[in-house]
Amino acid sequence: MTYVGRFAPSPTGPLHFGSLVAAVASYLEAKTHSGNWLLRIEDLDTPRVQAGAADHIISTLDAFGFEWDGDIMYQSQRNDAYINAFNLLKNKQLIYPCTCTRKEIADSSSQTGIEGIIYPGTCLSKPIKPNAPIAWRIKTEDKLSSFNDAIQGEISQNLKLDIADFVLKRADHLFTYQLAVVVDDAEQGITHVVRGADLLNSTPRQIYLQTLLNFNTPNYTHIPIATDNAGQKLSKQSLAKGLSATEASTALFKALHFLNQTPPPELMHDSHATIWQWASAHWDSAHIPTKATQITQ
Ligand code: GLU
Ligand code: ZN
Repeated sequence: MTYVGRFAPSPTGPLHFGSLVAAVASYLEAKTHSGNWLLRIEDLDTPRVQAGAADHIISTLDAFGFEWDGDIMYQSQRNDAYINAFNLLKNKQLIYPCTCTRKEIADSSSQTGIEGIIYPGTCLSKPIKPNAPIAWRIKTEDKLSSFNDAIQGEISQNLKLDIADFVLKRADHLFTYQLAVVVDDAEQGITHVVRGADLLNSTPRQIYLQTLLNFNTPNYTHIPIATDNAGQKLSKQSLAKGLSATEASTALFKALHFLNQTPPPELMHDSHATIWQWASAHWDSAHIPTKATQITQ
């Protein structure tokens, strides 16, 4: 069996501990399955992209001893592929324009789903407002579907009731993460997705799109999210501090520890090459905890 894994950071800030954990887990899973590990920069949401962040992420990964296969894919260069997928779904009449503002949606909906207010499908049954910015939504189905996550177990969602018709193209003309990630995972031939559990709830949307676009569905492994002392997700938004090339060994050691592997303490003072050697020989994904653990930085 071929194994193709990937790491797909968004360059909205420097590489921080939370994303390092996802990089380490996806890397070691790929390497211990004699697979390839691809790198994709998810620089699609241009208003949120931070200048220099992609370069920081890439040079830090390099300094930490990660070796990716092939060329780095940049979502900012993939617009034609997203247009194709979008048109395919549009031709199947699965997509419709929506001119509702956030406020209109909040005022018109009484339902809350997994990610907040449920869009009640207003623009499906009513003409859209002329001259208003248009977002494009995909119709979802009122039926329960499930997938099996390697760590989190069976996950079931009813897309219509838990998420509702979701946006594939925003009013500012940008394609959304859900569409892009599906198109790119297919283009890169990804067989195994290992990423943070903050994306667990997105997976049923992605599987739905894969099915509609005739793409294979990869295997999914959602690792727990690193939180700070206050239990908040360590994210670029919470200004988790960026990692520097000089702290490779300690950061890799801590990431392995967070993933419930048992690196011997002296390894923390070794070179990253020695750490990777130990990690490849001892990596056991069965030890990864299901739940978020608090870490102190
Ligand atoms: N770009 C996303 C992030 O940094 C990850 C996407 C994915 O792994 O599917 O949160
Ligand atoms: Zn609408």
